Amino acid sequence: MKPPRANGYRDTWAGLVRAENVDDDVRVAGWVHRRRDHGGLIFIDLRDRTGLIQLVFRPEEQAAAHAAAHSLRSEDVLTARGRVVRREEGTVNPQLPTGEVELVVEEIEQLADAETPPFEVDSDKQVDELLRLRYRYLDLRRDAMREAIELRHNVVLAIRDYLDERGFLDIETPFLTRSTPEGARDFLVPSRVEQGSFYALPQSPQLFKQLLMVAGFERYYQIVRCFRDESSRADRLPEFTQLDIEMSFVEEEDVIELCEGLIQSFLAAGGVQARVPFDRVSYDEAMLRYGTDRPDRRIGMEIEDLGEAFAQSEFQVFRGALESGGVVRGLKAAGADLTRKRFDELTEQAKQLGAKGLVWAVVEGEGWRSPIAKFLKPEEMSAVAAQLDAHEGDAILIVADTSDVAARVLGSLRLELAPPAEGHDLLWVVDFPMVEWNEDESRWDPVHHPFTAPTGDLDGDPGSWKSRAYDVVWNGWEMGGGSIRIHSPEVQRKVFDAIGISEVDAQERFGFLLDALKYGAPPHGGIAFGIDRIVAMLNNSDSIREVIAFPKAASQADPLTGAPAPVDEAQLMELALKVEKPKPGKR
Ligand code: ASP
Repeated sequence: MKPPRANGYRDTWAGLVRAENVDDDVRVAGWVHRRRDHGGLIFIDLRDRTGLIQLVFRPEEQAAAHAAAHSLRSEDVLTARGRVVRREEGTVNPQLPTGEVELVVEEIEQLADAETPPFEVDSDKQVDELLRLRYRYLDLRRDAMREAIELRHNVVLAIRDYLDERGFLDIETPFLTRSTPEGARDFLVPSRVEQGSFYALPQSPQLFKQLLMVAGFERYYQIVRCFRDESSRADRLPEFTQLDIEMSFVEEEDVIELCEGLIQSFLAAGGVQARVPFDRVSYDEAMLRYGTDRPDRRIGMEIEDLGEAFAQSEFQVFRGALESGGVVRGLKAAGADLTRKRFDELTEQAKQLGAKGLVWAVVEGEGWRSPIAKFLKPEEMSAVAAQLDAHEGDAILIVADTSDVAARVLGSLRLELAPPAEGHDLLWVVDFPMVEWNEDESRWDPVHHPFTAPTGDLDGDPGSWKSRAYDVVWNGWEMGGGSIRIHSPEVQRKVFDAIGISEVDAQERFGFLLDALKYGAPPHGGIAFGIDRIVAMLNNSDSIREVIAFPKAASQADPLTGAPAPVDEAQLMELALKVEKPKPGKR
């Protein structure tokens, strides 16, 4: 960091003063981090963005400065000038970069007073999160927060450098726009000039980045706020930051290769070394083996399809599932807690996730200890034990159900039963289905978004289509996802049609995109990454709020500003809006 321009407040950074500055006359400015009165001597740890320096006030040398230091309190703001001296033997602080020196103050001026803060800024003691958010500007003074924000900056800088070197342009797209279908509810902004009409805040810049490809920019990126009005899901905030990327004349391989280098460099900015290339796992395989399309392979326990072993089973539950097109799948829970009570708990969980039940068994000498042991043939038990590599003392958990339910239940038991191993797991999930059946609405919904290019027989059953989408998964979390896009208006129309968007509807909502596709749209594709969680994981934080300067609370409210808040009647009038609160219980 270059030195600041010398002015009346400072001529150097407090945290960067070193032994080679001994005898220099320097001026520093910052906050009183801590003050210690040692009879005659007063010590103040002065803090600025760069760190701490110890100020010493000696009564006999500089009586005026010493007297002023007496009345200083934590978090007061000051400027001080003096001479850098080496600390006496035995008082050197190896923990502090400035710990070999101190500043003997000759002149001091208090620049601002601070009330007693509602929590200690100079400690990492646990403080109630709402109180921290209410006084976020004080919370951000704490070391851990400053470091998190610096880490975020470094990650973003690595991204910008990497993409800049490869010719990507950072281009802004509008915040006041129309609905973008990423599957969440829109935040709406009423228009004053066109009363009764609304802008939507973007759920992503998806359509604009595609238009930028039609416009010929070829390589675009943006680190951009996105808005999704989802009911509070743990650690989802209504506004969040994406790294959004789009490229022209590319295939899956181009995006994947670019991203592997990119990921490697932004993870390195947070101290994580990633090896490339990453493995690729198909969606079907991920669902079968891990019960999820976001597998964490650091958890060993893999799910096996036991359909063959039980093909001739006389146990009605297994036979019934297989005969009705379902599956029988299971996993070995080595080292699981094998009490009856625990199995009952797991069964209850399985039921909550939609399963009719959960079969448990413990492998014992001759056979299995299990409520269903009497229904199974010895060959079935030994075939299953061999397939799962289960030995005496291991538990086996089996679900017989539809493949969706089996995946959901076993996937979540996997997470529950074994902690992930150390290290990092990065992989691509590819070959997604294009659509999934929405039971409630009786229609096909896109698995990604409707601009994703499909493959397969586009005049056939949409359920058989695959998509040209790819997700990158880091330690069981979807770090990014994207696809090769549709660049032909006919294909786009077919996809809209398949997911129940009529031609009129499509024209009304996405006419501008359909028009653009008629004017020479290059083949293109891209991806978007969730920046908040990437930084949170690099920072070892459970919550993304720990790496956002001014986040909303889990309730979606902002304890600092009080947003969201009612507005004046006059403002509502201008917008031609009237608020009618739902009757209690009707929300
Ligand atoms: N727009 C997509 C999203 O926000 C990402 C992409 O397809 O590039 O999830």
